[in-house]
Amino acid sequence: MQDCLFCKIIAGEIPCHKLYEDERIISFLDIFPVSEGHALVLPKTHATHLLETSEEDARAMMDTIKKITPAILKAVGGDGFNLGMNNGVSSGQEVSHTHLHIMPRRTGVPRLFEKTTVDHAELAVLAERVRELLR
Ligand code: AMP
Repeated sequence: MQDCLFCKIIAGEIPCHKLYEDERIISFLDIFPVSEGHALVLPKTHATHLLETSEEDARAMMDTIKKITPAILKAVGGDGFNLGMNNGVSSGQEVSHTHLHIMPRRTGVPRLFEKTTVDHAELAVLAERVRELLR
């Protein structure tokens, strides 16, 4: 999709801190994380939200979450996580390309949902650590 931010990331036209990729799915760090290791998981095929997404892509997103979340938690010292999904503008969806949020949580750290701005160099280091754990 021409004007879709996430399609541009998938196409490599906009950089991302990639954690995982296969023929169907890509995952990268959210650049405005609500918690350390906040990641997005999305199908490469454009669909605006879950109800427009194929069964295969929906299943692949969940399979990917099961596959990569242990590595993300290990990388940030997390012991729990929230999954989030906004579907449609009225739900708060900002990017109209189906995606799930993985928000790692750590015992004793407040469970905030406010976006933060972080240093991209730190995100790059974290993404490399996760990729290393997935190798
Ligand atoms: P949503 O509100 O569910 O559509 O979530 C979109 C998410 O994309 C937000 O959490 C943003 O912080 C995140 N985001 C926006 N631009 C980028 C980007 N260039 N790279 C990674 N994440 C992004």
